[in-house]
Amino acid sequence: MLPFSYVRAGDAGTAIALVRASPDSAFLAGGTTEVDLVRQDVLRPGLLVDINDLPLDLIEDLPDGGLRIGALARMSDVARAPGVIERFPVISQALVLGASAQLRNMASMGGNLCQRVRCSYFRDPASPCNKRDPGSGCAALNGFHRGHAILGTSDHCIATHPSDVAVPLTALDAVVHTSGPGGERAIGIDDFFLLPGDTPQREHPLEHGELITAIEVPGAPVARRSVYLKFRDRQSYEFALASVAAAIRIEDGAIAEVRLALGGVGTRPWRARRAEAALLGRPASAASFAGAAREELAQARPRPMNAFKVELAQRAIVRALSTLTDGEA
Ligand SMILES: Cc1cc2nc3c(=O)[nH]c(=O)nc-3n(C[C@H](O)[C@H](O)[C@H](O)COP(=O)(O)OP(=O)(O)OC[C@H]3O[C@@H](n4cnc5c(N)ncnc54)[C@H](O)[C@@H]3O)c2cc1C
Ligand code: SF4
Repeated sequence: MLPFSYVRAGDAGTAIALVRASPDSAFLAGGTTEVDLVRQDVLRPGLLVDINDLPLDLIEDLPDGGLRIGALARMSDVARAPGVIERFPVISQALVLGASAQLRNMASMGGNLCQRVRCSYFRDPASPCNKRDPGSGCAALNGFHRGHAILGTSDHCIATHPSDVAVPLTALDAVVHTSGPGGERAIGIDDFFLLPGDTPQREHPLEHGELITAIEVPGAPVARRSVYLKFRDRQSYEFALASVAAAIRIEDGAIAEVRLALGGVGTRPWRARRAEAALLGRPASAASFAGAAREELAQARPRPMNAFKVELAQRAIVRALSTLTDGEA
């Protein structure tokens, strides 16, 4: 680990200006990703700008029934906020199923969206990795890739996006608010997570020094009936092999509205739009759910060690939708 400077910013303008001024600087929130990677010599910042004094930790109910979650709100505080539990149970469940209690007390929502991939080659500076060292190659393609992605991959990177809470945020069309050198921006979640393509080192559209200030979730009555299921090698303190965020509304026996997103299988949180389209107007039956899941996963590009995820993700979709429609399906 190389020595680095540390400064604690008192306001957003100072934090942004400090990071902006040096190309090898970064924001520091809970530090649960950043400090790990510095210790592992994967990141070598010259300056860390601590943003924990900024007033960005509020969790507010919006007039349209939505939520505004400050970037520094801790995962555990968001998970137990009454408005989240009542109106967006899928968000609360995804948070509780992530990391450990200690980590959730430290980790911020902004940091969660910016956390780095768990690919072991990315975290091993001796291995080729296009994300860490662009142009060096991807050791996972022909290496150990059991946990890697089957959707949204490229020949340059197949790492899975690791966040749990980003999955329901994707299903619910959340908006990421930022403040930066160019002023304030609102970035739809679909545009926030970039596919790896031939630039896997670029994971989101933030400029250097652009600060996430809040995440807004628009009002969505459908989310009152929602669930997050996570499938992994052990039942706690583990990343997903596949996960699903689902919300559904049935009218007169047919599916009138549905939101679906997958985690653990995509290079970004994966909105299952093909499955959503296939479900609309259909009866809420196991056959409809299985057909829609097949349709979504038809675009998967598995590799030898992670081919099991195709079946796992399909079963996850069916299980989530069946759970929500118990008695109706
Ligand atoms: C052992 C372990 C297990 C875990 N398991 C899970 C899991 O199961 N599910 C899951 O979802 N996550 C899991 N995590 C990841 C954890 O949720 C993230 O590390 C955490 O959310 C990051 O938040 P932070 O505040 O600590 O970010 P930091 O480590 O402080 O920062 C992370 C990155 O975000 C940037 N950043 C932070 N805040 C902002 C901001 N406001 N604007 C712009 N950039 C910002 C930083 O510069 C840095 O690049 C796990 C982590 C560990 C260590
Ligand atoms: S999958 Fe991505 S993160 Fe992992 S080694 Fe390949 S390029 Fe690096």
